[in-house]
Amino acid sequence: MRLHEIWHRKSAIFKDESKLSIDYVPVELPNREDELLKLAGIFKSFVENPGSLSPRAILIGPVGTGKTVTAKYFGKQVEDYAYKRNSNIKYVHVNCHKDRTLYLLMTRVAEELNLHIPRRGFSSRELMNIIWSTLENRNQYLILTIDETDYLIATSGSEAIYDLTRLYDECIADQYRISLIFILRDYTKLYKLEECVRSSLLHNIIKFEPYTSDQIVDILESRIYKDGAIYPEAIDEEVLHTIGELVGVDKGGKGDARQAIEILWRAGKYAECEGANKITVEHVRKAYSDIYQVSSIYTLDNLRKHELILLLAVVRTLKLKGTSEVALGEVEQEYRAICKELNERPRGH
Ligand code: ADP
Ligand code: MG
Repeated sequence: MRLHEIWHRKSAIFKDESKLSIDYVPVELPNREDELLKLAGIFKSFVENPGSLSPRAILIGPVGTGKTVTAKYFGKQVEDYAYKRNSNIKYVHVNCHKDRTLYLLMTRVAEELNLHIPRRGFSSRELMNIIWSTLENRNQYLILTIDETDYLIATSGSEAIYDLTRLYDECIADQYRISLIFILRDYTKLYKLEECVRSSLLHNIIKFEPYTSDQIVDILESRIYKDGAIYPEAIDEEVLHTIGELVGVDKGGKGDARQAIEILWRAGKYAECEGANKITVEHVRKAYSDIYQVSSIYTLDNLRKHELILLLAVVRTLKLKGTSEVALGEVEQEYRAICKELNERPRGH
């Protein structure tokens, strides 16, 4: 098969695959309205009357709860609003996992502001001063998000956070130019900070909770129908619910939206490779077990005899009925039949 053919062939599944990439900021953020409203409230004076105040916010929550995307979405909204009102607010998002020291972070901020900093020995404080005076000269204001702050605390401790939160005090001016949003996974890292630094941070905390299965379905639907990632006719509700069940925190999953989107994307890839025109529950199961190795041979090795028989009963019933779900009663019936074949005494319900 010629590779060119694969690339050239129009996908029956993906309308725009890039809408499922991790960096994409969607048109809507279902189930994060409250968090966005809280952010909007905290930054109200900064946005309405730039320079008057310099609020700070902390977003805290486990992986995949939408912290990064909420901050970016918020930043976009602020920039749009400010532009319409002829004030100059810029949003910059830096990540401490990529740039692990304050110096590297500040270099990144300078880049985002299109500053050409010579690559010779500036200290991070000098860089901050350069950034500050640039903002001053341009009459520009900055909302700076420090994502995955956990890493910065781990590598640089209190000092880096202290320097950041003191950004404005050091620069003698009558206006606040910079406002900060910190993103963290959990509170434990905060306790590594010295008391004075910590207490300056502990205001305006917005907690992000893992998503339930219904919320996961909302997020996927929005990505498919509103953002146009996948052709609506290439997927059914049932398939989305299966992903919700695998990932939702109320169903024993992690409540991680990133997982859900990855499963959807991978299932779509399976459908595409098979030349199918629809994503099925089977594609989803395959994608899930690919990523999380749920049905690896090692797992089977660890099951006891009657657990294995029960599993076989589930598999047979699913195969026989050709559906994606079966009732427990049907599985029990099959389980008893297999026990009979194997001369095993069936266990009770
Ligand atoms: P975190 O930063 O908390 O680990 P992310 O913001 O990176 O989580 O979210 C993980 C993925 O899920 C991203 O692709 C993001 O766009 C998507 N996502 C998370 N929450 C939502 C939401 N409420 N609506 C739409 N997409 C979301
Ligand atoms: Mg993140």
